[in-house]
Amino acid sequence: MTLTNAHATPASACLAALEASPEGLTANEAARRLAQHGPNRLPEVRARGPVLRFLMQFHNVLIYVLLGAAAVTGTLQHWVDTGVILAVVLANAVIGFVQEGKAEAAMAAIRNMLAPRAAVLRDGHRTTLDGVDLVPGDIVLLEAGDKVPADLRVLEARGLAVQEALLTGESLPVEKGPEPVAADAALGDRRSMLWSGTLVTQGTARGLVVATGAGTEIGRIGGLLAGVEQLTTPLVAQMDHFARWLSFLILLFAALLLAYGYFVGHMPFADLFMAVVGVAVAAIPEGLPAVMTVTLAIGVQAMARRHAIVRRLPAIEAIGSVSVICTDKTGTLTRNEMVVAAADTPEGTFSIAGEGYAPQGTITPSGDLGRLALAAALCNDARLHRKDATWTVEGDPMEGALLAFAGKVGSDHPGRRWDAIPFDSRHRFMAVLTEGAFGRLVHVKGAPERVLRMCAGLDQAQWHDRAEALAKRGLRVLAFAERTEPGNKIDPKVLEGGLTFLGLVGLIDPPRPEAIAAVAECRTAGIRIKMITGDHAGTAAAIAGQIGLENPDRVLTGHDLDKLDDPQLALEVVGTNVFARTSPEHKLRLVTALQANGLSVAMTGDGVNDAPALKRADAGIAMGLKGSEAAKEAADLVLADDNFASIAAAVREGRTVYSNLKKVISWTLPTSAGESMVIVLALLLGLALPITAVQILWINLITGITLGLALAFEPTESGTMSRPPRARHAPILSGELVWHVVLVAALFLAAVFGVFTYAIEKGYPLALAQTMAMNTLVVLEIFHLFFIRNIHGTSLTWAAAKGTRVVWTVVLVITAAQFAVTYLSPLRVVLGTAPVPLFEGLLIVCIGAVFFALIEIEKQIRLGLRS
Ligand code: ATP
Repeated sequence: MTLTNAHATPASACLAALEASPEGLTANEAARRLAQHGPNRLPEVRARGPVLRFLMQFHNVLIYVLLGAAAVTGTLQHWVDTGVILAVVLANAVIGFVQEGKAEAAMAAIRNMLAPRAAVLRDGHRTTLDGVDLVPGDIVLLEAGDKVPADLRVLEARGLAVQEALLTGESLPVEKGPEPVAADAALGDRRSMLWSGTLVTQGTARGLVVATGAGTEIGRIGGLLAGVEQLTTPLVAQMDHFARWLSFLILLFAALLLAYGYFVGHMPFADLFMAVVGVAVAAIPEGLPAVMTVTLAIGVQAMARRHAIVRRLPAIEAIGSVSVICTDKTGTLTRNEMVVAAADTPEGTFSIAGEGYAPQGTITPSGDLGRLALAAALCNDARLHRKDATWTVEGDPMEGALLAFAGKVGSDHPGRRWDAIPFDSRHRFMAVLTEGAFGRLVHVKGAPERVLRMCAGLDQAQWHDRAEALAKRGLRVLAFAERTEPGNKIDPKVLEGGLTFLGLVGLIDPPRPEAIAAVAECRTAGIRIKMITGDHAGTAAAIAGQIGLENPDRVLTGHDLDKLDDPQLALEVVGTNVFARTSPEHKLRLVTALQANGLSVAMTGDGVNDAPALKRADAGIAMGLKGSEAAKEAADLVLADDNFASIAAAVREGRTVYSNLKKVISWTLPTSAGESMVIVLALLLGLALPITAVQILWINLITGITLGLALAFEPTESGTMSRPPRARHAPILSGELVWHVVLVAALFLAAVFGVFTYAIEKGYPLALAQTMAMNTLVVLEIFHLFFIRNIHGTSLTWAAAKGTRVVWTVVLVITAAQFAVTYLSPLRVVLGTAPVPLFEGLLIVCIGAVFFALIEIEKQIRLGLRS
């Protein structure tokens, strides 16, 4: 069973060579072949192994400084210092390793959620399965927007064109067909082949799988292997850059400090050196980018839980800042579980009862709907399946509803399909040529205004009004027509004007209740919602009203849009929320027009032609269920359930992530500044260090794994969705943040020096005074954490005090750790601490509370001034 030169072999011979049939393989045979050939998956990129990943943790400025310091203290034979420094180095590497591993695992899990699916024939039936389960000999069905799932020999093609840039570099789509080509044709000229990983841009095809997995052309050149995503966003990259520069500045400053202390202050080198190392370690925010990465990874996971799968990480920031969401209607705002409710034919008006896809229900009044039902059944690519008592649809739900309708009428006339023009959202109709009991007939279904135009001998105005009336009820309206056709091809030209009108069908597609709630939530969050649909203006307006959009009756159609130039459109687009009868091209113009108004736009899409608009939008969102692979590839986010409510959830998570990133920064920078300034000030003033260098290293280590990380796990702050979106390019290092750093660092200094001086003046030994100062610093950091958790509101609520499990866990861990170093003698030796009397301990906690009260009052004044 081998096939070489499939491109040069006639289709039938290819089928024979692979022992396949046009009806597809049997399930058993497919399973056997899967075992033989293995899954249809490209060999995985070898991720960096754990050893290399661990070693990479040492490649970092802070670690270099520490290793240098360990060498110097080792030379001076200060073994305790060397030991502590090396322990810090190791702990840092381990923390980094674990954090990075978690973040990478989160991204890998998400990648698997986006595995493509493929439509194949198995046991003669069309089924959808995971692309990895394809085997040579399978028959695959493709349509515009699909990604070719394996190397295929074309068996049948209609208007097929494929974008093969991935393999051949040719960016224009290439036409494909079943005819064999010369054996020595180059890859790009093998018109009878479809290559795995390329995109179908138009038409439909049926293809035979000839190679899978590593056996495909793309597998051979390893083309997709480079696609590993980096865990970064503009904000994280910006902070990374900032942290790097800051680190060098700090090192420079530390060197100056060392020189000053040695030559001017005449301090003993060893002590001075350790103190300067302490300053550098405390001040360098090297851990910041790693914690931010963890925050992102947690956000990615949270979004995935809410059915929004992040494809490109920067989107996580973008989605949190959107000020407009442009959304599709069908399936996103509505359920896409359609039922035919009304039919309007030249014979009369009918209402149709029945729920779901069951082909049973009564039609009132009874009448002859036979020809309309026949058209509905034949001009149709869906199938209904019955499992126990429930009917489900394979294919387009609207077509499923039409099949159910035909069943209710009692139409059951199978026919052989000769030819078809597939539905395309640009021409808005579909036509099929079938031969059955009524002879050879062309059936057309589509948007009423399009189909009516093809019909002869009709009061056009009257039927437009009747379609409009159905649409006003919120029904989706389709028109049907037919004509006889002696040949075996549909000539698109004969469709224009020569058809017999059969009638209109109105389908209910109820709004999703959760979408109504989500629209309301977005509106409170200052986000405008715009519906962009291919549907009729009347239907769109009715649904928009039910969903709760503003001004639902102000509708612009695609036709209206074509008449506006870009500046006019930019004016109109802001006040209009419903756009009907639009084509994908209009979406791109709408995004651009909205962006021209300074708005940050999220745009949904599903079809192959939506890709440019998705790319252009600040956050492109593709539908996971009904979306094409082309749309998913262009998108930043994919909705696993196609539901508008998931977009709102993603916005909420996006805002949460951004706010947590900001909290991480707002906690870390003042802490670093405060810690390092304590030592700097003491050195410059020639005072005894209130906290020793080893103690500073310890605090850095313990707070780094506890407090510093806790904010990454913060849940959504209340009120997150009642604030307007943040400005698109608002800098993170704002004046407000700088002020916060200065204020908190100053308060830290005052408190630490205050406690230290108080202890010395009380006659306590130096070690005790230093222990008290160190514990004061830790207590301040804990209170600061509680403050930062609610930067947008007040921290004096029960919910704020209750905190979260993560927060209390870290507080417990750090408290236990501080008790241990303060009271356990072996640790006391290493850190040079002394047990703190109970009264002084309480005093330290009180100082923390006063600090908290001060910054909280300052925040309330600031928030009050702003509003
Ligand atoms: P959206 O999902 O963007 O809200 P939509 O799904 O209603 O919009 P399209 O799929 O582009 O938009 O459909 C536009 C119109 O084309 C429909 O209102 C309907 O009249 C017609 N139409 C849709 N699907 C088919 C089909 N399979 N066959 C024939 N006509 C169709």
